[in-house]
This record gives sequence, structure tokens and C-alpha cells, in this order.
Amino acid sequence: MKLFYTRDKWAAFRSDTSGSWGFVPTMGALHQGHLDLVAQARLENTFVAVSIFVNPKQFNQTADLLAYPKTIESDLILLQASGVDAVFLPVTGEIYPENDTYEAASPGQAALGLEGVYRPGHFQGVVNVVDRLFELIKPSIAYFGQKDLQQCLVVQEFAALKYPSLKLVTVSTRREASGLAMSSRNVRLSDKGREDAAEIFKALDHLREFPTETESMRLRLLESGIETEYLEPMEVRLNTQKGLMNRAWVFAGYLEGIRLIDNLLFKE
Ligand code: AMP
Repeated sequence: MKLFYTRDKWAAFRSDTSGSWGFVPTMGALHQGHLDLVAQARLENTFVAVSIFVNPKQFNQTADLLAYPKTIESDLILLQASGVDAVFLPVTGEIYPENDTYEAASPGQAALGLEGVYRPGHFQGVVNVVDRLFELIKPSIAYFGQKDLQQCLVVQEFAALKYPSLKLVTVSTRREASGLAMSSRNVRLSDKGREDAAEIFKALDHLREFPTETESMRLRLLESGIETEYLEPMEVRLNTQKGLMNRAWVFAGYLEGIRLIDNLLFKE
């Protein structure tokens, strides 16, 4: 497994390879959810590249950026064991050079509402970094997690315009046995918090069957210490490993001061 710290070294290496490149962009602090994306990329490509870059532009709160977990050594061990060919670990200046003239793409309609409302500027930051990474890595297929459902929709929308030949794959959400969606932020929860957070998936699952019970689900979450930002149904159009999905229940909220998101995607 080769490590690349600069765009120039990466570009020289990339241009010398022939075959398909699967690409998994991450912010590190890797868990099994990330590794599912890597495994899918490994299955479908000649080579697999993973980037680890905590993108400052997509954090709308400095405290959240500073508290973001960093576990680079264990990340590299996991990636090596997963058969990754190349890891791109840029410092901020490699992605956003000073006096940069690069015109990054902007998010479209999919960025309106939900995260777009509660995290102003977040999707602009996401599209900024994903655009630069696509430009640099030049993947054949890029892999994103359904866990960040709206992100999948935002990336799908901007990439269809700017990278029409790039294929995007959405990988199902990996959960703990309790149902809690795996997230790098979960390590900041207490043991009790981790248990309580399992209520989120239970609420989503319940609403799928009983869609009028949003208020009682909000209350149930609150009893477990979870303050809901949004909990609502949504129409989507997303191709997944399980086929084309058209409905979702989406959640965002806070537990122990940590922002958690989750969703349940289905076909009606
Ligand atoms: P992050 O490091 O949080 O930016 O995530 C990198 C990629 O992993 C994104 O495409 C996420 O949607 C995906 N991901 C994060 N958590 C999970 C999970 N529990 N299951 C599947 N994919 C995930």
C-alpha cells in the first residue's frame, strides 16, 4: 500500500497506472462502515484509493472540527489489511493551495433543506472537497455511504454535471448490533449514550410502519436524552445495492452534545 502526501506525487503515480480505480473519500477515524465501502471498491476495481482528509470547509462549527477524532495509525493498518493500493493523506494546503484559482462546483437543489438548513455551508464544503478529490484522484467509480443520505444526493447531482462518466455507488449503512449507525463521532458518546442512541434507529423503523407517530417518537427520543433537529419523511431517488429507492425517513439530533444523523431508505 502506497501513501501519498502531495498532489504531484499522486498525479505522477496515477498517470502510470492502467485499469479502473475505485475511490473512497473519508475523514479518517475509520470503522466497519468505511471498510464496507472499501470492500465494495475492492470487488469492482483493479485498484482502490482511499483519501483521509478532515475537510475544514464542511464543518460549520469550529468545536466540532477540533473534536473530530484522529486515529491515523490504526486507520492505515485497517486499510492495508483491506487490500487498498493507495492512500492519499493531504495537508490542507494540498487541497486548498494559497492563491488558488480553482473554481469549485457548487451544490444544487439536493442541498436545500435538512442538513442544508441546520448546517449552513456544509454542502458547499462537501462539494468543494469532493470536486477537488475527483479531479485529482480521477476515479472510475466513487463510493459513498447511505448513512449520509443527503450527501449522496448532493454528490450525485453535482457529479452528473461535472463528471458525467464517473460512476457513483451507494453502500448500505453499517450498524452496531443495537441498530446504531456506525459513525466516527460515536466514540465521543459515553457507554450509556451509545445504548440510548440505538433509539434513533428504532424510531425510524417504527415510523416506517406508523408514519403519523412523529411526535410520540420525538418524545420517546427525548426521554433517552436525544434532542431531535429533524425527523421527517422524504422522497428520494437513489440507486442502491438493493435497487432503486424512493422513500426515506431521515433524522438529525443531539445526544450528549454530539450531533448524530441517520436514515432509513426504502421502496414504496
Ligand atoms: P466520513 O469519514 O464520515 O466522511 O465518511 C466517509 C464515507 O463513509 C462517507 O461516504 C460516509 O457516508 C461513509 N460512512 C460513514 N459511516 C458509515 C456507515 N455506518 N455505513 C456505511 N457507510 C458509512
